[in-house]
Amino acid sequence: MSQASPSFHAAFPPRHDWALEEIEALFDLPFNDLLFRAQQVHRTHFDANAVQVSTLLSIKTGACPEDCKYCPQSGHYNTGLDKEKLLEIDKVVEQARAAKQAGASRFCMGAAWRSPRERDLTVVLEMVRRVKALGLETCMTLGMLDNAQAERLAEAGLDYYNHNLDTSPEYYGDIITTRTYADRLETLGHVRHAGMKICSGGILGMGETPRDRAGLLQQLARLDPHPESVPINMLVKVPGTPLENVADLDPLDFVRAIAVARILMPTSHVRLSAGREMMDDATQALAFLAGANSIFYGDKLLTTENPQVERDRDLFGRLGLHPERIDTCRDDAAQQALLDDAMIRRRTDDALFYDAAGVH
Ligand code: SF4
Repeated sequence: MSQASPSFHAAFPPRHDWALEEIEALFDLPFNDLLFRAQQVHRTHFDANAVQVSTLLSIKTGACPEDCKYCPQSGHYNTGLDKEKLLEIDKVVEQARAAKQAGASRFCMGAAWRSPRERDLTVVLEMVRRVKALGLETCMTLGMLDNAQAERLAEAGLDYYNHNLDTSPEYYGDIITTRTYADRLETLGHVRHAGMKICSGGILGMGETPRDRAGLLQQLARLDPHPESVPINMLVKVPGTPLENVADLDPLDFVRAIAVARILMPTSHVRLSAGREMMDDATQALAFLAGANSIFYGDKLLTTENPQVERDRDLFGRLGLHPERIDTCRDDAAQQALLDDAMIRRRTDDALFYDAAGVH
């Protein structure tokens, strides 16, 4: 349960200078050796049986002008998705309040935009203020930001900003053509400069090579400091998107990527994100063993299915996992009780957990 001593921490200090060959060598380790090493790193920095749990609400759905080939929200593809305009502030606050009552500690809000327009940003800033006032951590994914937008979000109280790198710089152009890798890094720079925490990861199983997977993790590990949250998604092949027929990724290769992410970014929360519903329990268990320590909790993940809460509760119970305690909570015991309760009660209110993958 307890974390290791500071002297043991020094054995796995965060690095930002990983060479691609070093990362590929980690991927090439025998599976058991890789997972053992990842566990060592994981236990140095975290309670190995605690998993951070977030809920996420899509505040604006579909009709996105970007052409991300994996995304059902792109306006370039016909996926039959129900589009929704920006939600009203009161509705968002209402759902945040309900999420808090159900035990959520962080409330993530996602909008399918290339970048927020001024009139939308004004509304979004008020959402941040009011959700924050409920005592929740706040996270948003709104597309690209300039420096001034990032500063205003930070001033409003936004804690985290999600903006994924998606894949390696080399493969990126095969997946998205409407904005560049440099654009993404620039937004992350603005977020960091404004003092917010970064949530950034990628998607595996998009037809990339093993070297691309190493390249993605190298880019994330180069960020200094590392992203506080690193979502590793397994592609959900949505009919109507260009990647609907791409070959499946071996689940063991997915677990390897989780383990390498854990080793490269030892103090980051590595999030087992979209694609969980396609994984059997054993694969998810291996992912937790490899160092994943964050999930979205709910019935939906943006526009893709997420495992039912009942299944999460059952898996947590069988693995002896528990929701991560929130250090900033005034009453840890009460908060923990709420989180535990939230994990064991089957939710009947689907709307509360209209979750987002944070796929931007
Ligand atoms: S991933 Fe984000 S930016 Fe890309 S199409 Fe989907 S909603 Fe738009």
